Amino acid sequence: MSNPLHRTDVAIVGAGPVGLFAVFQFGMLDMRCHVVDSLDVVGGQCSALYPEKPIYDIPGYPEIVAADLVARLEEQAHPFAPVYHLGQQVVSLTATDERRWLLETARGTRIDAKVVVITAGVGAFGPNRPPLEGIEKYEGRGVHYLVKRREDFRGKRVVIAGGGDSAVDWALSLADLAQGVAVVHRRPKFRAAPESIARLHALAGDGAIELVIPFQLAGLEGDDGKLRAVRVRDLEGHERRLAADVLLPFFGLTQNLGPIAGWGLNLERNHVVVDPATCATGSPGVFACGDIATYPGKLKLILCGFSETAMAAHAAYPLVHPGEALHFEYSTTKGVPGR
Ligand SMILES: Cc1cc2nc3c(=O)[nH]c(=O)nc-3n(C[C@H](O)[C@H](O)[C@H](O)COP(=O)(O)OP(=O)(O)OC[C@H]3O[C@@H](n4cnc5c(N)ncnc54)[C@H](O)[C@@H]3O)c2cc1C
Repeated sequence: MSNPLHRTDVAIVGAGPVGLFAVFQFGMLDMRCHVVDSLDVVGGQCSALYPEKPIYDIPGYPEIVAADLVARLEEQAHPFAPVYHLGQQVVSLTATDERRWLLETARGTRIDAKVVVITAGVGAFGPNRPPLEGIEKYEGRGVHYLVKRREDFRGKRVVIAGGGDSAVDWALSLADLAQGVAVVHRRPKFRAAPESIARLHALAGDGAIELVIPFQLAGLEGDDGKLRAVRVRDLEGHERRLAADVLLPFFGLTQNLGPIAGWGLNLERNHVVVDPATCATGSPGVFACGDIATYPGKLKLILCGFSETAMAAHAAYPLVHPGEALHFEYSTTKGVPGR
């Protein structure tokens, strides 16, 4: 049996900051949205690459930490009841006979939409998975490639693998919350901010963090997807077993324009060419906003992506509500549902 078909006004490919704000802008014009992302969290680059960093050029916020901006955008989208399909990459986009679009994801989710908004940044994020047998059984339960909420690790035995910023920063951050933190790295040297490395060694000296160096991941132990231990091996083949509830492998994320390149869109150096007045692509009903969209003078800034979603929503309105006049209204006049 094939997967159920979701029928909606708008399908948004990418739940980065721009995709989230598109839910608000399209929602304000009475268009319902489904949002798909290959990551299992919303926020795109803000969540995957720099959740803890402050951003200084969001209008109205002299300073806002990226993760907080994502939380605010989710809150702003919430009244419009978006349906999220996370942890799945959109693999195909095809025109239907009814002048609509059919999207399919790698997990078989199918969305039939009148309008498609591509807010895919520089492509779908995916983790660099360590080659451990059966790791997929633990993903989302005992193995996480991104930290959504620090609190989730309270009282847990955490093994962190990797030697870069994410590994070091999360080891420092979880040290006082987790039951134990072990950092597995194949080299004695870490690649992170010098002050963070110094703090890591200081906490290791105090016994608050265990440095398992130079070791590499060798295997996982557990039952029914519940992790019990991580096996590690050094270069001489000596093995150790680290009791663990959670493994956080931080070996970086890959980004891949992937299937979007095959959707018949006009591309310029891996970006989708759009009309700067409407963000329309050459395919009727398909729009692109944010980092993936290009036009003369394009700036890859969050604030530019936000304004592009407003233009796309106005341009898309007659496709979703044919024959209905659109009267321009400010949010102050129109209000939002529930407020
Ligand atoms: C370290 C750093 C600091 C930055 N600082 C600033 C700053 O101070 N100010 C500023 O304005 N900008 C800053 N930026 C840039 C800013 O993060 C980007 O402009 C912004 O994230 C673009 O948003 P987006 O929604 O267009 O794309 P993204 O944030 O890239 O999100 C795109 C999403 O689409 C998903 N996706 C892609 N293809 C598919 C597919 N086929 N199926 C499903 N999902 C898919 C991806 O997984 C991703 O989650 C910074 C970037 C970095 C890396």
